[in-house]
Amino acid sequence: MTTRSESRTALDHLLSEIEHRNPAQPEFHQAAHEVLETLAPVIAARPEYAEPGLVERLVEPERQVIFRVPWQDDQGRVHVNRGFRVEFNSALGPYKGGLRFHPSVNLGVIKFLGFEQIFKNALTGLGIGGGKGGSDFDPHGRSDAEVMRFCQSFMTELYRHIGEHTDVPAGDIGVGGREIGYLFGQYRRITNRWEAGVLTGKGAGWGGSLIRPEATGYGNVLFAAAMMRERGEDLEGQTAVVSGSGNVAIYTIEKLAALGANAVTCSDSSGYVVDEKGIDLDLLKQIKEVERGRVDVYAERRGSSARFVPGGSVWDVPADLVLPSATQNELDENAAATLIRNGVKAVSEGANMPTTPEAVHLLQQAGVAFGPGKAANAGGVAVSALEMAQNHARTSWTAARVEEELTHIMNDIHTTCHETAERYDAPGDYVTGANIAGFERVADAMLAQGVI
Ligand code: GLU
Repeated sequence: MTTRSESRTALDHLLSEIEHRNPAQPEFHQAAHEVLETLAPVIAARPEYAEPGLVERLVEPERQVIFRVPWQDDQGRVHVNRGFRVEFNSALGPYKGGLRFHPSVNLGVIKFLGFEQIFKNALTGLGIGGGKGGSDFDPHGRSDAEVMRFCQSFMTELYRHIGEHTDVPAGDIGVGGREIGYLFGQYRRITNRWEAGVLTGKGAGWGGSLIRPEATGYGNVLFAAAMMRERGEDLEGQTAVVSGSGNVAIYTIEKLAALGANAVTCSDSSGYVVDEKGIDLDLLKQIKEVERGRVDVYAERRGSSARFVPGGSVWDVPADLVLPSATQNELDENAAATLIRNGVKAVSEGANMPTTPEAVHLLQQAGVAFGPGKAANAGGVAVSALEMAQNHARTSWTAARVEEELTHIMNDIHTTCHETAERYDAPGDYVTGANIAGFERVADAMLAQGVI
């Protein structure tokens, strides 16, 4: 029998080992810390989890692929980007996770995302392993033809590593319906297979699932609503601050409005918009999804209720609910202190790891309900798994059916995290609840399947 402090010492040792073995990957170190730091009680309580090598295997990806992606721009100039696919853990099912196209992408970023994905996917209960991929390619300012050529080159290498029973990529930052279309087309062309289940986030007319575009944002709002219910409140009349203006932010704002809350902000790397009347979703969708423009254009066109704050911090805007939906480490401890001063009740992560560890600590200390991304934003990948199910059955479900399943899954994840936290003496701590519940599912499968 191991005690909690023995488990803690072993985990601390492993954490320094991880830093040593994976140099210059700060985001991966951060994600590993965040999970391992909460596992001591479960390892102490369940001796099988102290088996030598179990946690060591969990932090080492099963496979990591890095490849060259050469492509030509519209002037005929050749560019060389780097492509990644990290197949982290397949104990529960085929590797599953998105592709991110953003200049900040490197191996450490993809590993942090892939590691998070293992536990997130386990929490959905849908039989999907964890993986992630992407490239340091920047789609901003590129023509459709350039994006197409890049996607074709990317898939010309990636196709040999993926498959409906092997590894199923989807979108993430910089990869939406357009990119998934080009990627799917090239996969089909190279393999001569109409293999719908190899990618998710496809168009509704060619194997995609209804509600997949909405799922991450909708799911996060459902998770936030469940946390608020625990506090005896609902979303009606609450003011919400949302960061980002991509797919997750847009459908977060949509669902908040549907449940009676008022989302007053959105942002991008140039600054943020605050709109006292609430964000006008048709206008935001037109600018972001059709014109692929920036948020300052929103304020210009919206009129007097909205203003654009260049370079400012969206967290300065007072709110009851905060849904960070842009990118990692966007909400630090200064921002958390401001939110607390302004009376925030709940923070629910639409993005992956948007809140720094110090900020999470501050928020939890102040009694703010905090929903970690691996639970709160699992709706996207959950509906991806439903898309795979529809593809296997060669059928498509109605939007109402998918949304009902999504609601059920998000409530279930909330209950699982809540109950697990209570079981391990951490009531209300969704971080501990999510990490332990996800870990138990993956670890049980790994133990059953032997040392591989
Ligand atoms: N990129 C999303 C996430 O972070 C979705 C992944 C998927 O649908 O496979 O979970």
